[in-house]
Amino acid sequence: DSLVAGVDLACLSSLAAREAKRFAAARPKTRAALEAGAGAYLGDVPMHWMRDWPMPFPMLVKRAEGARLTDIDGFRIDDFCLGDTGSMFGHSPAPVARAIRRQARRGLTYMLPTEAALEAGALLNRRFGTYRWQIATTATDANRFALRVARAVTGRPKVLVFNGCYHGTVDDTMVELHDGHTRARQGLVGQVEDLSLVAEVVEFNDLSAVEVALAKGDIAAILTEPVMTNSCMVLPQAGFHDGLRTLSRRYGALLIIDETHTISSGLGGYSRVHSLSPDLFVVGKCVAGGMPTAVWGMTDEVAARFAEYDARRPSGHSGMGTTLSANPMQFACLKANLAEVMTPEAYAHMEKGAERLSAGLRRVIEAHGAPWHVVRVGARVEFICAPGPLKNGAEAASAHQPALEAAIHTALLNRGSLIAPFHNMMLVSPVTRKRQIDRLIAAFDEILTELF
Ligand code: PMP
Repeated sequence: DSLVAGVDLACLSSLAAREAKRFAAARPKTRAALEAGAGAYLGDVPMHWMRDWPMPFPMLVKRAEGARLTDIDGFRIDDFCLGDTGSMFGHSPAPVARAIRRQARRGLTYMLPTEAALEAGALLNRRFGTYRWQIATTATDANRFALRVARAVTGRPKVLVFNGCYHGTVDDTMVELHDGHTRARQGLVGQVEDLSLVAEVVEFNDLSAVEVALAKGDIAAILTEPVMTNSCMVLPQAGFHDGLRTLSRRYGALLIIDETHTISSGLGGYSRVHSLSPDLFVVGKCVAGGMPTAVWGMTDEVAARFAEYDARRPSGHSGMGTTLSANPMQFACLKANLAEVMTPEAYAHMEKGAERLSAGLRRVIEAHGAPWHVVRVGARVEFICAPGPLKNGAEAASAHQPALEAAIHTALLNRGSLIAPFHNMMLVSPVTRKRQIDRLIAAFDEILTELF
């Protein structure tokens, strides 16, 4: 038991200490700037998650272009985090940057649509399939609103989610499985409502548990990612999605597919690539090339049910929408991104690069005899410091090795590659170069050489 995921603990501690020191020593400017300015923020960061990066203090980014960041100490870093998918198509894609410059002279927000909005609507249908769309600013909001519609049209209270899921800071989905029961996640800040009244949680890939939950008759919707991407990476087993679709129809629940991360799967997302047929469809983050935008849509059938509901409800607050949503800047970027950035050619490049990356990481893992594995979903690659495949959130939770992963992340960064915090996710953008991928594989090899 002096081993963590096959790594000797003493060896891990010395790597972690060495890499943390190296990161800090190399960044005097960053350190001085943070000392001078960070105190204005709660916990010294403008968004508290930024403390969850593994290095001793955050990098201060000077600029980002393509798939590369430059920090204020002058380090050029290959970016495989890409804003945890917000910049999956690269930083400031040229068509989106042009659209921003153009729209910047024409007003930023006016709570009225534009012609670009109409064009973006047609593009959304072409890319994702025909839905009745709405625009939100974050995927969190898009999921919240989709859930409201599902509850409205079914008249049922609960959402069914999978253990280990993440759909943004949607209160109702912040649940976990504990001794076979649904309870609120223990880290939630200021939680008052009993979430087991509004949510039920079961394990991913467990259709019989899904059926037991649905049979109670109080589930409005199943909300799921096609692949669990926020809890290591857990792939659906053969027949799982068909089963979800069949069961949700049988028991009168709606199926909400959240493609916010699995948009990495290919053009139109996992749903398009694998012919899923959700009742409600959500995608955010990179859909407008990095401009804060999310889209959510419902089938004509759900739209008809919602129209009936909407006509009967008392007028006034709906609980959906936010003031800055569906603004002209979002539409300018959405249109540019859908038409000119999210192309078959872009996805072909991403897929090819991600395959090169996952094959390379696999080779390194094998060469060092590490009991680890690699999973890929289109442009999204993750190494997991445990044997695989993982079947569900519980297995993913025990596969997660925070201390080991943090040391590897900092060591990768010191060798010029940034990967996503929280877990070991890497994205390949349409502008990621082969040599950036090879550098990451070589750095990974160097680190595993020290660890094993
Ligand atoms: N859905 C999924 C699947 C996500 O991974 C995330 C964020 N990681 C969200 C929704 C929420 O996105 P946002 O933080 O932009 O609201």
